[in-house]
Amino acid sequence: MKDQDYEEIAQKLRETLGEGKVFTQTFHRMAYSRDWSPRDAKEAYLPDIVVRPFSIEEASKMVKIANEYKIPVIPYAGGTGMSGASVPIYGGISVDMKGLDKVKEVDVKNMTVTCGVGITILRLNEILAEYGLWFPHDPESKPASTVGSAIACNNDGTFAIKYGRTPDFLLNTVVVTGTGQILRIGHRKALVSSTGLNLMPLFIGSEGTLGLVCEATLRIYPLPKARAVLGLLFRSITDAINSLQRLLQAGLSVESAHVNCGRRLNFYTHSFRLKHNRDPDIPEWTDAVLFVSFNGDSKVVDFSKEYALKLVEETDGELLKEEAMVESWWNSKHTGSFIPFRQKWPDSQREKKFGAADLGLPVGRIEEGYQRYLEIAEKNGLEILGMCVYNEKASCISPSISFAVWVDDKDPENVRGWWNYVKEMSYMAVDLEGTMSTYWGDGEFRIGYNRYEHGDSLDVMMQIKKIFDPNNIMNPGKKFSVDEINKITVKIEKN
Ligand SMILES: Cc1cc2nc3c(=O)[nH]c(=O)nc-3n(C[C@H](O)[C@H](O)[C@H](O)COP(=O)(O)OP(=O)(O)OC[C@H]3O[C@@H](n4cnc5c(N)ncnc54)[C@H](O)[C@@H]3O)c2cc1C
Repeated sequence: MKDQDYEEIAQKLRETLGEGKVFTQTFHRMAYSRDWSPRDAKEAYLPDIVVRPFSIEEASKMVKIANEYKIPVIPYAGGTGMSGASVPIYGGISVDMKGLDKVKEVDVKNMTVTCGVGITILRLNEILAEYGLWFPHDPESKPASTVGSAIACNNDGTFAIKYGRTPDFLLNTVVVTGTGQILRIGHRKALVSSTGLNLMPLFIGSEGTLGLVCEATLRIYPLPKARAVLGLLFRSITDAINSLQRLLQAGLSVESAHVNCGRRLNFYTHSFRLKHNRDPDIPEWTDAVLFVSFNGDSKVVDFSKEYALKLVEETDGELLKEEAMVESWWNSKHTGSFIPFRQKWPDSQREKKFGAADLGLPVGRIEEGYQRYLEIAEKNGLEILGMCVYNEKASCISPSISFAVWVDDKDPENVRGWWNYVKEMSYMAVDLEGTMSTYWGDGEFRIGYNRYEHGDSLDVMMQIKKIFDPNNIMNPGKKFSVDEINKITVKIEKN
């Protein structure tokens, strides 16, 4: 398409949506050219047009125009995604979803909130706190990442071991499909339903490839009255996992639980050293740390803490005495003020990029996965940062594992090594009876080899995509290869 065609489309969008919602200047377009995926520092894909709709109707009108001209529509929220999923690799219209940020209703009686999905998770919780309520989905990126991308990426949250994540929260949603059709899907404020076909899960983790998610009704909870946070030291990852299993089996009110390998512990020992100018008091045998929190009424929390310590002793673990380290773990998850994210250790985010393969492995294969990670990272010339096992389903060990490395995005060779690392790690996850991704999705980079996980089901997925988005305008080049999807025809006709 020629520049003058884009100018024509932008003009049509301006006439339809009004002023202040359509942008074509380079500096505007630059802001939507990257996300947090480690890539060559010089690489940038500019959208041709940026649109910021403020209502579902505006979003629908915009998609109808894009569909008429068959140009890509790429939903963009906080830009903190790590798989290139919001990068406009084929140009087109980047849609800034943050204009849809209004809280429509806080229904205290029914414990739901209905909101525009462009609201950040942090802001939503600030508003809910005024009612003593809480949306307990808590990614570290919450100051920037939105409810819409929590749905579109099905991302991880710190408190999922108690509350679950998007499939457990999302009751109802309004979407705009690739033809501009507005659809309400879900079961209003009911928590469960067995009518019709359940379309909502299709949008959870769809990465903008089926349409724009515009509104959500979410299940919410009372703010916890009390909380206790502990750091527990173990001789191995397996010991830490077994101990966590024991806490859950005992019925304790576990609110969050992260198992870090010895290397990842360096995050916290380093920040401790910077702050206190001494080494933390940690036994030499330590090779894993479990950070865990409990919530509920204060008596329950006190009991949970005491009982947990008793169980941990029985499983050969020990309490981490350095409370400053426990605090820095909590800060790393909740305040965005964690020192290693800002300062120069071992290199800051400005020097190098934090990259993590985000695999889902069955609990019995974690140690095996860890050994393979060390080999694969080394083979691809990447500095190893360590592994953290998040738990993402209520009341059980449900590993979503971040296998982290540093990536030097000023070195194209290192960036290539990173993407090869992601690929080899992804294959490894499937070989170990797991899944390639638990919070990134496929994005731009898993195309081509995600068939290794899904086989012929990938063809069925592409047919489903075509039902919602017949012209493949919704985030093309993500999840599915454009060449493959162009070969698929699905015809739906209504007499
Ligand atoms: C410092 C940092 C910490 C992080 N911590 C976590 C964490 O704890 N847990 C975790 O899971 N991830 C984490 N991430 C990764 C990232 O934040 C999440 O994947 C997040 O969901 C991306 O949100 P975003 O709003 O920035 O979305 P974007 O990067 O803008 O978009 C992500 C994808 O969602 C699509 N999308 C966005 N909004 C919509 C919509 N309304 N309708 C349809 N599609 C849409 C986009 O097209 C794209 O495919 C972290 C990232 C960083 C940089």
